[in-house]
Amino acid sequence: MIVSGAFAGKRYAVLGLARSGLSTVETLLASGAQVTAWDNRDEARAQVEGRAELADPLGIDLEGFDGVVVSPGVPLNRHPIADAARAAGVPVIGDIELFAQARASLPPHKVVAITGTNGKSTTTALVHHICEGAGLPSRMGGNIGLPILGQEPLTPNGKGFGVYVLELSSYQIDLTHSLAADVAALINLSPDHLDRYDGFEGYVASKARLFAMQDPGQHAVLGCGDARTLAVARKCAAARDKGLIHVVDPSRLEGQASWPALQGPHNLQNAAIAVEIVGLLGLTEHQWRPALASFAGLAHRMERVAEHRGVLFVNDSKATNPASTAPALAAFPRIHWILGGLPKGDDLDECLPHLGNVAAAYTIGEAGPRFARLLEPFVPVKRSEMLCEAVRQAMAAARPGDVVMLSPACASFDQFRDFEARGDAFRDIVSALIAEAAPAAAGAAR
Ligand code: ADP
Repeated sequence: MIVSGAFAGKRYAVLGLARSGLSTVETLLASGAQVTAWDNRDEARAQVEGRAELADPLGIDLEGFDGVVVSPGVPLNRHPIADAARAAGVPVIGDIELFAQARASLPPHKVVAITGTNGKSTTTALVHHICEGAGLPSRMGGNIGLPILGQEPLTPNGKGFGVYVLELSSYQIDLTHSLAADVAALINLSPDHLDRYDGFEGYVASKARLFAMQDPGQHAVLGCGDARTLAVARKCAAARDKGLIHVVDPSRLEGQASWPALQGPHNLQNAAIAVEIVGLLGLTEHQWRPALASFAGLAHRMERVAEHRGVLFVNDSKATNPASTAPALAAFPRIHWILGGLPKGDDLDECLPHLGNVAAAYTIGEAGPRFARLLEPFVPVKRSEMLCEAVRQAMAAARPGDVVMLSPACASFDQFRDFEARGDAFRDIVSALIAEAAPAAAGAAR
């Protein structure tokens, strides 16, 4: 765990004791800070009882605190803690800000910070994988589900430095004020999380702050696939030396056919951004190229879960908006596409250009009827409603060479706990149906 003298003798309130909140409390306590912690769940509070004071920061006098540390899940635009902290003159921060403040006491290192609407986890894991393969010490954390404060601090080896690779959501950036990332990357921008921002422009501005926090001599890496990201690049270029702004064109990166876990145009974009980042860290092509081939990919992101009678089953449950589903549709020529869930918008516009690859669509969840109406003029649609029915129907219709893919373009919360549970359910249903089909096939052969 990261421990720093920067917090010794200070006072913090920590609101939200899930993964990152708990590791924040541990770091602060081990660093000699006084901590008041709170979570509405009894079992979460029990984990720090006796070591931190337990009190809801909304019910106490916040004056004299050095910070209120909130979980990125707390909607700052609506939650009363923002006003309470402001009234007491206390900054509202997150664990990434604490990491930024601890940096001065860490051995020599660099920070790579990666954001974007889609592809953050893949790109973060890929940069980490390339660094490790090249013998450059690396830790990854942030939105990828690993709290960075809980990681063992890097000790530099012969390279003289190690790298912290951070995946940052816009919520985490909102809670960060002093992270000067040696390399900051913005992969892409499309409308998302609009319930927490003042429209799309508010969301874009939140992401762009990652660059505003950098020092003038630090590198900015940006995708070139959408107008908003290019506008952020132009803004960066106006504020620092042009040589520090790297707008990445994925079409210049060759060899994708030999990277099994990085298929589809979106993954070419992620790979190109990762290659640019590691190049800025001093790694060479003979170091990164083999790592692109050996990258295993992440669960629920175009994950190949099974192949049965020539049909490939792909779990892309993490595609929770149409922009992230679109490139998955572009990746295969004949897809039985399972989609739907809790919609984030009214349309599927980003997906429409790829409908030529869709053999049939199977709609589920709350968005099902609406998506069925949108798609019916273009492709055969089955209103499956439930995931198990959708997989069953898709499997019955698929021919050898086809792909059955869950890429829902929606959040999962109408029918599942989270996107992981939805992807796990898909995997389980596929394997159960394959097992069910096997004896029948054996019988038919006899
Ligand atoms: P994030 O961490 O930003 O949510 P992930 O790497 O977990 O991104 O990928 C989430 C989903 O978005 C996946 O289902 C994938 O198909 C899609 N995706 C990944 N990279 C991109 C990209 N560069 N552009 C558009 N969609 C992408």
